[in-house]
Amino acid sequence: MVIRCCFVTAELAPLVKAGGLADAAGALAGALHSRGVDLRVFVPMYAELDRSTLSLEPEPGLADLELSLGRHRYRYSFVRARRAAGPDLLLVDCPELYGRPGVYGDAEDEHHRFALLCHAALEACVRTGFAPQVVHCHDWHTALLPTLLRQRYGRAPELAGARSLLTVHNLGYQGWLPASVASELGLPEGAVETAGLAADRINLLRQGLRDADAVSTVSPTYAKEICSPELGMGLDEVLRARGDEVAGILNGVDYSTWDPATDPHLPHRFSAADLSGKARMRAALCDLLGLQDAPGRLLIGIVSRLVWQKGVDLLEGALEEPLADGRIAFAALGAGEPANEALLESLARRFPGRAAFRRGYNERLAHWIEAGADAFLMPSRYEPCGLNQMYSLRYGTVPLVRRTGGLADSVRHFDPATGEGTGIVFNDADPAAVRWAVETAAAWHQDHSLWSRIVANGMREDFSWDRAVEEYLQLYRQIAERA
Ligand code: ADP
Repeated sequence: MVIRCCFVTAELAPLVKAGGLADAAGALAGALHSRGVDLRVFVPMYAELDRSTLSLEPEPGLADLELSLGRHRYRYSFVRARRAAGPDLLLVDCPELYGRPGVYGDAEDEHHRFALLCHAALEACVRTGFAPQVVHCHDWHTALLPTLLRQRYGRAPELAGARSLLTVHNLGYQGWLPASVASELGLPEGAVETAGLAADRINLLRQGLRDADAVSTVSPTYAKEICSPELGMGLDEVLRARGDEVAGILNGVDYSTWDPATDPHLPHRFSAADLSGKARMRAALCDLLGLQDAPGRLLIGIVSRLVWQKGVDLLEGALEEPLADGRIAFAALGAGEPANEALLESLARRFPGRAAFRRGYNERLAHWIEAGADAFLMPSRYEPCGLNQMYSLRYGTVPLVRRTGGLADSVRHFDPATGEGTGIVFNDADPAAVRWAVETAAAWHQDHSLWSRIVANGMREDFSWDRAVEEYLQLYRQIAERA
């Protein structure tokens, strides 16, 4: 059976990226396409979409369309983007909504930008006679699609058999809006739930989770966690009320970008068979960041958005002593909440030559830290999937992770007795647990053969998209059978 899928996303790497959603959506769309899924991929034609590798042409029959959202009327068209590799994209061209800087913004019409994307995708299916069995939406931006299918577009013969799949990449971002804009989403009155929600607001992710035919998320552990009050972020009840399982499919890694043997960002490359390049990367990273190298000292890296989720505040009180006595050095890259930035700045100031912090987003430095550090720290409070721990494994950099979400699913705690395991996994979201992980890593690092064993175990792991896409295909088939 050929599966036809309407795939709608607010981000798609490498063309337009704000976070992990882009990586997952970009890689998944490519993998589905190469497995023969008949895909229509819809993305807004943002001003900042990287057009350099695209060949663009207007899509016949899909020009100058109109959509009313409340009293606002938008005109839009579709542009087909052909690429050297991967499926064509259908870019939704509406300069009034997408012709501004940034992927996301805080303008008053922000919800129109994503409502239009959802309407446009379904409208295009109807107008071109494309009848998908699966409409795959991602996160709150496109979570309106299941309701649009049920309440407005599902009557069209092309979409009568379509079933929706909503993938949650991060439950922390839900698309809260004032209830007053419910009438601006292009749906019949009452179709969008307002009752019972805080301060008379609507919540687009909640709406999607209620109306989607199937729900998935990006790791098996997170799939369970979001059904519990602790990590359900107010949506666990809606998830439990569905009565079916949330599918958990661990994201893959794009090893064409993240492989130390071929990484173009690195002046020194390496592989499991020859780690001499890793030692040179370590020296180069220390040079670059002004860190003093010392034999036996454990260099711990961190690359992260500096937000509550990532637990960077838990480093306070965890790193000072091992930094002071010279057992560890620390290299951090990231940007985010001022308090977290201040904490990292303060470590760098108090421990010159031992701790360094670079504020901002820097792709090259992210690769250098993955390659040059001995260990990589992720003390996340929650982590739907997480990518850096999987990069670390491939780069021979031992991950120190909290046992949550995708971190728990991708890193196995090392057991010195058996020699099995790929990293250090700690349970609690507190500085004492982080300290324990750091101290354990520093002690194990002293034992060359033990450390080499952890590194070798990690480098053998395979988190490629080949596995993940098979699981999505299976889910698509299950959904298509219901169609
Ligand atoms: P999230 O999507 O929650 O930020 P993920 O681990 O899924 O977390 O993906 C984050 C991606 O963004 C990783 O590829 C990581 O290396 C990258 N990243 C985060 N912060 C920075 C930064 N300051 N500079 C470069 N890359 C970064």
